[in-house]
Amino acid sequence: MKIRKISAYQTDLPLAEGPYNWSGGNTVSVFDSTLVQVDTDEGVCGYGEVCPLGPAYLPAFAEGARTGIAKIGPSLIGMDPTCLGVLNRRMDEALKGHPYVKSPIDIACWDILGRVAGLPISSLLGGRQADDFVLYRAISQETPARMAELVSTHRAEGYTRFQLKVGADPAEDVERIRAAAAVVGPGDRLIADANTGWLMHDAMRVVRAVRDVDVYIEQPCLSYEECLSVRRHTRHPFVLDESIASVGALLRANGDAAMDVINLKISKLGGLTKASQLRDLCVSLGIAMTVEDTWGGDFTTAAIAHLAHSTPPQFLFTSTDFNSYVTVSTARNPPVRQRGRLAAPAAPGLGLEPRREVLGEPVLVVE
Ligand code: MG
Repeated sequence: MKIRKISAYQTDLPLAEGPYNWSGGNTVSVFDSTLVQVDTDEGVCGYGEVCPLGPAYLPAFAEGARTGIAKIGPSLIGMDPTCLGVLNRRMDEALKGHPYVKSPIDIACWDILGRVAGLPISSLLGGRQADDFVLYRAISQETPARMAELVSTHRAEGYTRFQLKVGADPAEDVERIRAAAAVVGPGDRLIADANTGWLMHDAMRVVRAVRDVDVYIEQPCLSYEECLSVRRHTRHPFVLDESIASVGALLRANGDAAMDVINLKISKLGGLTKASQLRDLCVSLGIAMTVEDTWGGDFTTAAIAHLAHSTPPQFLFTSTDFNSYVTVSTARNPPVRQRGRLAAPAAPGLGLEPRREVLGEPVLVVE
């Protein structure tokens, strides 16, 4: 089997609840998502999506994904899409870095591999570990009262894990954490994600001020060293996200006991091949994970679901259903959450077929 054509579709994904705000005054109202279709000479095709969280979150942006796909696409034509290791090596030879460019191509080839094997990707990644898996809800940075209200709303929908977007003024962030903590129930989990927004002294003030609250602290500062310093001065469970972008970073952080949980985003690593490597390593090392991506619609949600559903539940701290945040559906049969939980599609591959009327014409074709 050979790759015959690689196409990319651009889709705007507006947010249902209005702008999504996080640290540093960053905000997104409409996500720019890229769906990649990989066609083969045997008629089988696969799909993969990448949707950066705007251009200011990671070193990744939507137009860059499409430009990068145009750059590496020609070197992939004629390759066997079911040989994921060979394909990933070729992508890494053709383009240094830029994992988010490679992620949708890698996912589309996993989709093809699953369709050829007649198995869902979750089976290829180790198999479903339970009936379903747990989700979190991201709470946009708003006033403390509004954030508490959003937690209550989503709690009523069945969510039990809430990731508060903090990383702003430390005193107000303390109020945000306290307001949300007041409305969660026993067994719920609260995460304060600063998204690199605090300096060390800000972070130290916040963790000291909420030391009586059962809250996880996620990526307080920009650099790994700053986060490690905060980690060493707090008893809160600690999550690293932006700092964990490679196997090397994970191993160093594990050696330093720098976190209890990592946030594993598929496109941050470069696709399911590398994300599953990290996932398996975390299981071996005893590190729990939030399994997700930077953002996306139905196809990203399905890719996350296959990786999350095949992760042992005790290691899956939480995951996410991004397709429920946006108003546009790009697939006919998307995964839909039930009471704050989700299951991976059971059909072969990713298990989704696109809505052609939503995708329109490709913005890029390499053949
Ligand atoms: Mg995070």
